Amino acid sequence: MENTALTQIRNKISNCSKSAERNPEDVSLVVVSKNFSSDQIRPVLEEGARIFGENRVQEAQKKWPELHQDFDDVQLHLIGPLQSNKVAAAVGLFDVIHTIDREKIAAAISGEIKKQKKAIQLFVQVNTGGEDQKAGVLPNEVTEFVNLCRDKYKLDITGLMCIPPFDENPGPHFALLRKLAGECGCRFLSMGMSADFETAIEFGSTHVRIGSAIFGPRS
Ligand SMILES: *Cc1c(COP(=O)(O)O)cnc(C)c1O
Repeated sequence: MENTALTQIRNKISNCSKSAERNPEDVSLVVVSKNFSSDQIRPVLEEGARIFGENRVQEAQKKWPELHQDFDDVQLHLIGPLQSNKVAAAVGLFDVIHTIDREKIAAAISGEIKKQKKAIQLFVQVNTGGEDQKAGVLPNEVTEFVNLCRDKYKLDITGLMCIPPFDENPGPHFALLRKLAGECGCRFLSMGMSADFETAIEFGSTHVRIGSAIFGPRS
């Protein structure tokens, strides 16, 4: 097999899962292609990656319909903030949304899922560090919010997602997300990026979101 960045990351995920006594198949690699062009994404598709993450609906709309024509089994994940006026497009394009963080968005997604009759996997974003500038539900409000999404809006929330504060040890944030997921009955944990995915896997991550370690630095 070629020794590409993708192969190296896959090997690291596999080795790290095994050392954590986990099944590597329980850790999905979400290749984060935001800010990278279709020409840069194609070689990674040709190498076999099929799960991709984008953080802006508009950017994804420009790139993915065409790539989908050649690679129709790609699963697209929205990992960035979602505005109400983009919900219809997001539900149309994405298979998984990681960033539900307020009632208005939950309501809009619920309406669109019914309208488009589309099954989507849904995660709630948690602001584990309580940072003012960061999106996400505060840790002490997660259970209540997940229940609201489920009961009032009939959303099948199956996971939690976090982005730890960039200057802190991520371990405690991953541990907190895992604890919260246990409390609200969520199976999936979207946590870990290029710099900290191995730690995230030790703490139970099921979805690592990796961009720069595969594509190189973003401009
Ligand atoms: C950009 C981004 C990533 C990937 O970051 P890298 O450090 O390039 O791996 C992961 N998650 C989210 C939410 C992002 O916006």
